[in-house]
Amino acid sequence: MIFRIGQGFDLHRCVADRPLVLGGVTIPCPWGLDGHSDADALLHAITDAVLGALALGDIGTWFPDTDPRWKGADSAQLLRQVLDDPRLNGWQLGNLDSTVITEKPKLAPYKLQIRQSIADIFNCPVEKISLKAKTNERQDAIGQGLALAAHAIVLMQRER
Ligand code: MG
Repeated sequence: MIFRIGQGFDLHRCVADRPLVLGGVTIPCPWGLDGHSDADALLHAITDAVLGALALGDIGTWFPDTDPRWKGADSAQLLRQVLDDPRLNGWQLGNLDSTVITEKPKLAPYKLQIRQSIADIFNCPVEKISLKAKTNERQDAIGQGLALAAHAIVLMQRER
């Protein structure tokens, strides 16, 4: 078995009048995330982690925010497009760990749904997907509710 590890990070500004989408799940919230696509910071971090594992660049070069094709794009579709790339043939997810940092809302009630949504994209058991949530202790932009950030790390594996 061959293993490759990848890491991803993303941050989006919190703005009114946008849905809050994390891991492909729309979460009830009075504000959402600003961005060219659906601004799903968690899926963006995960996509960058997958690309990083195989040294295939980053989400910004795959899906430039200057390209009108990706305006309002469903980030789950973007990740699926990466996973369907011929260069990922034979690779499967070993496991994925992720962290969302935000003051609000509390993510505990949605964690399983988000993990299942991510597992559906990878077509893998939910047990391979970990999601953790933290606050920023009211410090800096995230702590003041101005931004939300996500980290992800993946282990990709392939038979020899
Ligand atoms: Mg992003």
